[in-house]
Amino acid sequence: MAVKSLSILPVGRCGVANWMLDTRLQGTEAGRPIVELPVWVYLIETTDGPILIDSGMPDECIGRPDLLADPDHPEESPEIVPQMGAGDSIVSALARAKLAPNDLLCLVSTHWHFDHAGGNRHFPETRVVVQRTEYESFFSLATEEQSEAFWITSDLRYDFVDGDVELVPGVHLISTPGHSPGHQSVLVSTPQSGNVLLTIDAAYTGLNYEEGIPFTVIDEGMTRLSIQKLKYIAKDEHAFVFYGHDTVQAKSVRPFPAHY
Ligand SMILES: [Zn+2]
Repeated sequence: MAVKSLSILPVGRCGVANWMLDTRLQGTEAGRPIVELPVWVYLIETTDGPILIDSGMPDECIGRPDLLADPDHPEESPEIVPQMGAGDSIVSALARAKLAPNDLLCLVSTHWHFDHAGGNRHFPETRVVVQRTEYESFFSLATEEQSEAFWITSDLRYDFVDGDVELVPGVHLISTPGHSPGHQSVLVSTPQSGNVLLTIDAAYTGLNYEEGIPFTVIDEGMTRLSIQKLKYIAKDEHAFVFYGHDTVQAKSVRPFPAHY
């Protein structure tokens, strides 16, 4: 088995308050404006079939930028504003690649935030590869917190991994906790473009990664260690580093149908 190519697919945008990209701005005027970030999924074509990384936002977000507003505080403007059209559903995005959910070899679920695992429910027959820590941490939350994350379900065909693993030749899952308890990044070795390191949300932006600017995470210490780990890997593997939600980098990325 071998990797044939890697494609980057846009699946909508998501506005977040500026302070979430730089938590030093929390509570300041400069932290308030909403910044629109790209939301991505990734498609790896292999000689044995396609692998999808992440599933974008839940279909409930289509045409509903207010979906994640706090119902208890309607007077407060929401700090997370999904911008999703019908074509941004993961099923539509796959269809543009002439694929249906059941065509996948597996779905790699990097972490369970709404903009990465929102479409997981479209894959009831698919092997869903997730870090055991992400699964166990979620299902040990209070029932109320679990039900708020309506896009997560326990009855998928989960395949748990622990730490760093070679998923298939040329695709490595790298444990990078900190943004979420069991977050994972992905290193893909492509024949055409060499190694590509998808940080996913171990770093939203180049500033988080290169300058250590703190962003929204559950554990800052673990996040710093995870970024350090990714830097070692990127250097050793001469990898091109692609960040989770970087508006500047998004301008130069060649999205699907181009591939790397
Ligand atoms: Zn994200």
